[in-house]
Amino acid sequence: TNRTFTMLKPDAVEKGHIGAILEQINASGFRIVAMKLTQMTKNDAETFYAVHKERPFFGELVEFMTRGPIVAAILEKENAVEDFRTLIGATNPEEAAEGTIRKKYASSVGENAVHGSDSDENAEIESSFHFAGREMF
Ligand code: ATP
Repeated sequence: TNRTFTMLKPDAVEKGHIGAILEQINASGFRIVAMKLTQMTKNDAETFYAVHKERPFFGELVEFMTRGPIVAAILEKENAVEDFRTLIGATNPEEAAEGTIRKKYASSVGENAVHGSDSDENAEIESSFHFAGREMF
């Protein structure tokens, strides 16, 4: 098995979708290794999304990701990174497959409800950004 990192973004938390999204994640065979409700500071978001700092939407992305609490979690499953990206669907909810988390809960390409790591290496980096070893089970 391997691991991926996810965040239920401020839009999903504001709309009360934490329970439904976690239920779908569990039902899809992921085991929760670590989880917390937390809020990113501006500096956290700029660091976490540093790869996008030259993109035109960077300021908007940082503003959005810091406007309220998120749920950060580490998930374990065979083929976790790829299977989780399939479960959440395309970045733009209009392009996301039927039944995916973004299709059901996202409202736009910016406010897209959930994050999923795009590689094993980034899953590891993102997990240790949010969690200490003793918070992982
Ligand atoms: P994530 O990294 O959150 O899982 P992703 O890998 O599907 O998303 P990326 O292209 O890495 O998508 O973009 C990271 C995040 O930046 C997106 O989830 C979204 O919140 C935001 N974003 C991407 N493109 C746009 C855009 N055109 N306008 C506004 N925000 C955007």
